[in-house]
Amino acid sequence: MSYSGTKGSNALLQSTLVDDFNRPVDYVRIAVTSSCNLRCSYCMREDHKETADTESLLKIRDINTIIDVLAGLGVTKIRFTGGEPLLRKDIVELVRQAKTHTGIKTVSLTTNGLLLDRFLPALIDAGLDSLNFSIDTLDDNRYRAITRREEFKRVRENLDMLLKTDAISVKLNVVLMRDINSDELQRFVDFTKDHSVTVRFIELQPFDDNQIWRTGKFFSADKIRALLQSYYPDLNPVRGYATEYFSYTQPDHKGSIAIIPAFTRNFCTGCNKIRITSNGQIISCLYEKKGINLLPILRGNAPHSALIELFRQAVSQKPQDGKHTLNNSVRTSMSEIGG
Ligand code: SAM
Ligand code: SF4
Repeated sequence: MSYSGTKGSNALLQSTLVDDFNRPVDYVRIAVTSSCNLRCSYCMREDHKETADTESLLKIRDINTIIDVLAGLGVTKIRFTGGEPLLRKDIVELVRQAKTHTGIKTVSLTTNGLLLDRFLPALIDAGLDSLNFSIDTLDDNRYRAITRREEFKRVRENLDMLLKTDAISVKLNVVLMRDINSDELQRFVDFTKDHSVTVRFIELQPFDDNQIWRTGKFFSADKIRALLQSYYPDLNPVRGYATEYFSYTQPDHKGSIAIIPAFTRNFCTGCNKIRITSNGQIISCLYEKKGINLLPILRGNAPHSALIELFRQAVSQKPQDGKHTLNNSVRTSMSEIGG
């Protein structure tokens, strides 16, 4: 499907979600909790308070209704994220039920991996297609410094367990930061030798709760690329997913390596997604301050057509270039909106 990228009629596909710039929306990230069992210094403040309001937290039936409506609007890909999605006791059931909706082709999860030993076999059995495992260092002391928690051993064991399975597609998310973990680049690339994983080096993004953003730790995608190419001069450029702006394979390695310029480039031209927060706000753009609250309609026994209208309204609010609209009131944390 092609889109013009200019504002105009979006009569492209009336029954699907297409924004005012003719970009089809077929991907939804759902934050299933805003709670977390780590306190990554680039994501949350150490004293981050969990929201006590359990009433507004999306219940499994809310999420099912949302997916049902979205599948009917042409959405094919769902990612469960958070906060830490494995803190949801019903995460396996969420995956299982998401897979039953006609039209949903992929169900994925982004996790810090701490509780994966409890859930992996059941998630695979439930039909999970792919998993992004976030780990920024392979050093115990650094892990403690970055996450402010003593959990390295379990997370590392869980990563090894995950790498042993070939039942689902696996990506490692590594936020690369100057003088913090940039010297570990080769250790991460080593995972691609014997495993068909994608190791993704991600640029740090500025959120208000990101306390290391202003301390000069930002390491740009250009610098990551230069460093990577200095160690691996034989890299072959390959086509990656939308946000994987630079993507490579290394001869004789089974996996691939990608760089995500989350801050220095914007991916607005090809943006195909919306987000839903754990308290039911539809967020049409990462840089948008205020979402649209789904809950009154979702829980008010309104017909599906009212929800469809709400999603269309959200999609029509997508700016052509979100970063261009960036002002001082950026969000506090990636965990708030589902990274
Ligand atoms: N807790 C889960 C995890 O860490 O994978 C899921 C939620 S977390 C918000 C999703 C992804 O966002 C993680 O890969 C994390 O590293 C990334 N992230 C969080 N804050 C970020 C920031 N300020 N800049 C870049 N990436 C960030
Ligand atoms: Fe938690 Fe993920 Fe944020 Fe780390 S990046 S604090 S694991 S939500």
